[in-house]
Amino acid sequence: MATIFSTATGGPLPSTMSDQQLSIRAIFEHAMKSHPRKQIVSRDGPEILRFTYAEFGKRVAKLANALRTLGVRPGDRVASFAWNGHRHLELYYAVPMIGAVLHTVNIRLFPDQAAFVLDHAGDRVVFYDGSLTKAIKAAAALDPGAGRTFVQMGASSESFEGALDYETLLAPEADTYDWPDVDERSAAILCYTSATTGDPKGVLFSHRSTFIHALASGLADALGITERDRVLPIVPMFHVNAWGTPFMCLMIGADFIMPMERLDPAGVIEMCDSERVTFSAGVPTVWMAVRDMLRAQNRSLPLLKRIVIGGSAMPSSLMDDLNALGIEAIHAWGMTEMSPIGTVSRDISELDGDPDKQRRERYKQGRFSPIVQYRIVDESGNEVAADGVARGELLVRGYAVAKEYYNNPSATETAFEPDGWFHTGDVVTMDEYGYIEIVDRVKDFIKSGGEWISSVEVENILMGHPGLKEACVFGIPHPKWQERPVATVVVREGHEPDEDAIRAWLGDKLAKWQTPDRVIFVDTIPRTGVGKFLKRDLRERYKALFAEKDA
Ligand code: AMP
Repeated sequence: MATIFSTATGGPLPSTMSDQQLSIRAIFEHAMKSHPRKQIVSRDGPEILRFTYAEFGKRVAKLANALRTLGVRPGDRVASFAWNGHRHLELYYAVPMIGAVLHTVNIRLFPDQAAFVLDHAGDRVVFYDGSLTKAIKAAAALDPGAGRTFVQMGASSESFEGALDYETLLAPEADTYDWPDVDERSAAILCYTSATTGDPKGVLFSHRSTFIHALASGLADALGITERDRVLPIVPMFHVNAWGTPFMCLMIGADFIMPMERLDPAGVIEMCDSERVTFSAGVPTVWMAVRDMLRAQNRSLPLLKRIVIGGSAMPSSLMDDLNALGIEAIHAWGMTEMSPIGTVSRDISELDGDPDKQRRERYKQGRFSPIVQYRIVDESGNEVAADGVARGELLVRGYAVAKEYYNNPSATETAFEPDGWFHTGDVVTMDEYGYIEIVDRVKDFIKSGGEWISSVEVENILMGHPGLKEACVFGIPHPKWQERPVATVVVREGHEPDEDAIRAWLGDKLAKWQTPDRVIFVDTIPRTGVGKFLKRDLRERYKALFAEKDA
């Protein structure tokens, strides 16, 4: 353990600087005072609602009073089960600012998983969107004795007996609140990982980590959002706080525009157009669909300048296509455990004279945020060379990185070192310019005849095939080779590629042993609640593929 000098141990001279707590309230109060006329915009059924920050602030105070009326106390957990909308944003501020904890439940969880996280978090009150009544009722029915209060936000065609109505709750309340001082290290938001393996694991963000993450991620060489931007987060507010954008935008004074359930390409394009969106963020699949529709309609979105894409690898073809449409696609990597932004791929001055090299760097996941410490290590724990070739597991630690999971000692022991280093489970390379490339998840590597095949690399190539919309690659046990790669692909409309033609096309780009033995055509690829491929399900579905063939 390193020595920490303090004045108590006769260390350095104390500074003259004030010791303000870093909090969500500090972001909120700055936004109210410095940017009162900036906008919060939200779909609400067929309508588009608009609030100034000042009007939004009054609703946040009303909600805080309503939470007190409901008996919510500091430390209590309050769940949200909601799309990106203005009421969800009100919860984002009101709940932590009264000292309680907002648990942002993934609305795409199966009822038993949703019931599991509500129970594990110990939520007392659940705020849900009216359009999600059926799903929340199904989860609630699995634990009828839990004694939770349910509050419905917006209209629903389905009734939920006993649920309160959000607007009715807020109506009689005062629009000011005497916000308490909350310790910066106390919990503000609880988010469970998307669980591609095992039960979801909880990460409790503090006021301090949320503030620091917003500050660092807004930097010009990170997301680079400015006061002039009109930001449309497509990434859900239940997926690691929409990557911190609800805090970054209010801190910076950018207009914040929320799409509710309209995440279909037509809805996204319409909103970008009518709301003059300049900046957006989301996982690759949404932008593939938007790209396809823009191309089919032979149109562009001239005001949309930048999109940050992450959550899973952005195929290089997607970046090229979006660039050709006049949109800068910025690749970023992160994890729930990291609040989430770890790296962002932005240009550096050192490569100004080499545009080709810079373009290839942009395809990678990027360079580290200043608030993240990192080590890339081999199986013996030694750091690997930063030469763009040597691979190792990425370990991180930092100001907005978790040090443990919430109430889960066994998962904590597996993933965290006692001195706080977190095993990301991602295998990466780093080059001499500090750009990392995610080679694969440790558990998704395909081990074939003593060689390792990166499923991500094969997917990236396949998604550049003109006849394919999506591709997911995974390993299946093989009697001779241990495992062999298999690809499931979704064909683009109007194309009819056959398996042999795809394999032959791949053969030019990959070594024979890296080329999938089978290419299987499917209508959809199974995904987790936040849009990542569910390789576990595919491995299970096709587990006997080679056994049968060789039997
Ligand atoms: P989550 O906690 O749900 O955000 O998932 C984090 C995981 O998603 C990471 O550990 C990566 O495996 C994956 N991931 C996130 N962003 C990227 C990216 N840009 N490229 C490849 N994988 C990514």
